[in-house]
Amino acid sequence: MSVPIARTVDELKRTVAEWRSKGESIAVVPTMGALHAGHLSLVQAALDTADRVIVTLFVNPKQFNSAADLAAYPRTEKEDAAKLTPLGAHLLYCPDGEEMYPAGFATTVSVSGVSEGLCGAYRPGHFDGVATVVAKLLMQTDADFAFFGEKDFQQLQVVRRLVADLDIPVAIIGCPTVREEDGLAMSSRNLRLSASERAIAPILARQLFQAADRIVAGEPIAQCLNRARSCILEQGFQSVEYLELCDEYKLIPLVKADQPARILSAVWLGGIRLIDNVIVTKTETSK
Ligand code: AMP
Repeated sequence: MSVPIARTVDELKRTVAEWRSKGESIAVVPTMGALHAGHLSLVQAALDTADRVIVTLFVNPKQFNSAADLAAYPRTEKEDAAKLTPLGAHLLYCPDGEEMYPAGFATTVSVSGVSEGLCGAYRPGHFDGVATVVAKLLMQTDADFAFFGEKDFQQLQVVRRLVADLDIPVAIIGCPTVREEDGLAMSSRNLRLSASERAIAPILARQLFQAADRIVAGEPIAQCLNRARSCILEQGFQSVEYLELCDEYKLIPLVKADQPARILSAVWLGGIRLIDNVIVTKTETSK
């Protein structure tokens, strides 16, 4: 039997109420679809944790800065359902835009601080869109656990702040980035790279890991970051939006690696924006 699909808040809540009446725990995995092994690793972690797993599939217009990017975003619901069925996910929640943001919708959830630098500086309104939809999804699904990828590390920290500040009773679980064999972080956007761009793309991860190793070895931070930026540009990327060493929790840029830290980066390759990040100091990633 293929994974059941709910398209409305009412359908979703009926299923959730049934599970709750039996005392079952619930996990949610929010996604925008075009599922790959990175998404499926979150679903598997959710299945290992809770009695019931809801995967949400909603291409959230509020988190896109460009209408062209929103229009080009892959929509592959049938294929996504076919990937979830053998795993044993219990419900695929696919609301449309009207269901999520009905006429008159007027609320924006905005997380200051952690959402302001890095991607937040280059994508105005993006994290407001993320925080608004995640708050709705957490309340609609009434989940005990919600799974997010470290691939979108700033998003993960924004969500952590959001649930702490709004007292949403859910445990946020961060899961490691799943990579292709050549190191490229899996992303729905990778599908839009040409063959020659795809060949260049893994250089981003390689440079981040090398910079992290050099920082841990004690090389000056600015030198390590500058070298990574130059190598990325020399190898054919159009631009580096940012490539920074930041503290693990608040994502404030660091000049010393004397606390848990990460290098985070966003770059442009062939009109596609790629993001990635790597840990620098060994730390618990689940905080
Ligand atoms: P998206 O559909 O891109 O919004 O992603 C949905 C969830 O999957 C987010 O929590 C992402 O961080 C996570 N995710 C996306 N790519 C990866 C990856 N390569 N490894 C682990 N998690 C990922």
